[in-house]
Amino acid sequence: MTDKCISAQEALRKYFGYDTFRPYQAEIIEAVQEGHDCLVLMPTGGGKSICFQIPALINQGLVVVVSPLLALMKDQVDALLENGIQAAALNSIQSEDEELVIKMKARQGDIRLLYISPERLLSELDYLLPSLDISLFAIDEAHCISQWGHDFRPEYNKLSVLKERFPTVPMMALTATADKLTRNDIITQLGLDSPRIFISSFDRPNLSLHVIGGYNKKQKLAAIYSFIQRHARQSGIIYCLSRSNTEMVAQELSQLGITTEVYHAGLSAQQREKAQAAFLNDEVQVVCATIAFGMGIDKSNVRWVIHYNMPKSIECYYQEIGRAGRDGMPSDTLLFYSLGDVVMLSKFARESGQSQMNMEKLHRMQEYAESPICRRRILLNYFGEEVEKDCGNCDICKNPPQRFDGSVLVQKALSACIRTGESITVQVLIDILRGSHKAEILEKGYDRIKTFGAGEDLSFRQWQGYLLQMMQLGYFELLYNEGNRIKVTPSGWKVLRGEQIAMLTFVSNELITERKDK
Ligand code: ADP
Ligand code: ZN
Repeated sequence: MTDKCISAQEALRKYFGYDTFRPYQAEIIEAVQEGHDCLVLMPTGGGKSICFQIPALINQGLVVVVSPLLALMKDQVDALLENGIQAAALNSIQSEDEELVIKMKARQGDIRLLYISPERLLSELDYLLPSLDISLFAIDEAHCISQWGHDFRPEYNKLSVLKERFPTVPMMALTATADKLTRNDIITQLGLDSPRIFISSFDRPNLSLHVIGGYNKKQKLAAIYSFIQRHARQSGIIYCLSRSNTEMVAQELSQLGITTEVYHAGLSAQQREKAQAAFLNDEVQVVCATIAFGMGIDKSNVRWVIHYNMPKSIECYYQEIGRAGRDGMPSDTLLFYSLGDVVMLSKFARESGQSQMNMEKLHRMQEYAESPICRRRILLNYFGEEVEKDCGNCDICKNPPQRFDGSVLVQKALSACIRTGESITVQVLIDILRGSHKAEILEKGYDRIKTFGAGEDLSFRQWQGYLLQMMQLGYFELLYNEGNRIKVTPSGWKVLRGEQIAMLTFVSNELITERKDK
């Protein structure tokens, strides 16, 4: 049954038909073989599944895969069976008989991969699991365990018992979206034991990035129509915030002769499955969907993604545009953004029970949409990757605003920040730069900092604009779990030391839109 004598490389060819591993796949599999816990961060489509599927093929025991979505489990199990790999899923929709058969096979060692929902896993902790020979727990979509992540699921939280119950079984946590905080939280919550951490680049250079602000409904629909005309017969997804918008957009497009399906959580499971199948089989060109659509969709030739409304965070945005171009071929993305979206999303964020964090994420999304900086740089910086060059494949790069050498501004700002021990927020930094005599500044002795008042020639708003650019260029990061204090990054230090030039876009005194909640 198990191909114990074949190597990972051979298994890759034999079962999946691929000749070479993608970056990190081989290293991850090796780490598992050595018994290490792992944290795997790879963008959607990066090839995470193989990292736990191959260990299942070359080891004795079975791999238990925790996955939150029924549809996703089913797709993976079907694909594995098709490749001749014994896999099964335990979920709530199968009959008792089917379930008994699966459990029996699993106990006999006739199953290589057992997919299971977190709820189900917890209910089997005392019964099924101890009777199995488990070689690895793979926790897919691991960001769901973290309150910091964008898709927190309470059932995931309880997975912390796995390590207590099965301390000797290695565990692999996988996710496509996790900023630094979420990463650390995943490790803590799952109790990973000095895990090997693999972070592959999140860069998707084949995706073009384009943002249009301020259009009304009519303008958006016209722009979408001409966009689709330029992508004749190419599959694409249009994401909307509301169900009613998905239906409206779909209807408008059908009237223009474009084949569409609608997908949102208000439809029955059957309707959703039908829509998904029609899209996967290229029977319709377009799906108009809410965010409910796409998790686990494995359609490699999605050529474009449009956001009819702005998403609530950069994580969501990046995951959604990431559904385009999974085959690596050039694909286009277009984001519409309006203040109306921001108002509505702010309302959701405030009502969310995690108001502060969600507002912060929303601001970062809005700042992305409004920015004059290379969009990919902002995205990659957001995910903690160091980038020093503009991408050439976004609307800003293709039509760059006038820039000037702003290195001195950056140096003034960052050196002031460092002299406070990197303990201050952007607001306080601006006060220092502008030589404010507020009590807070004087009490802390910030008026004695060398760069105190070094930026008084610029208004508060201008500094806001420039500091935002500096953050988006990756010269400092905002630690939003530490009261939004500023920390200088390695790229920031390079500008400070004069090893790198910082090009900024001119900020006039009037142009900055004020953040309403501040
Ligand atoms: P993820 O789970 O990270 O979103 P998948 O595991 O679904 O990504 O992989 C995405 C696609 O890439 C799949 O079609 C998969 O077969 C393919 N793939 C994975 N590894 C390789 C490889 N080493 N060579 C070629 N294709 C690969
Ligand atoms: Zn760019």
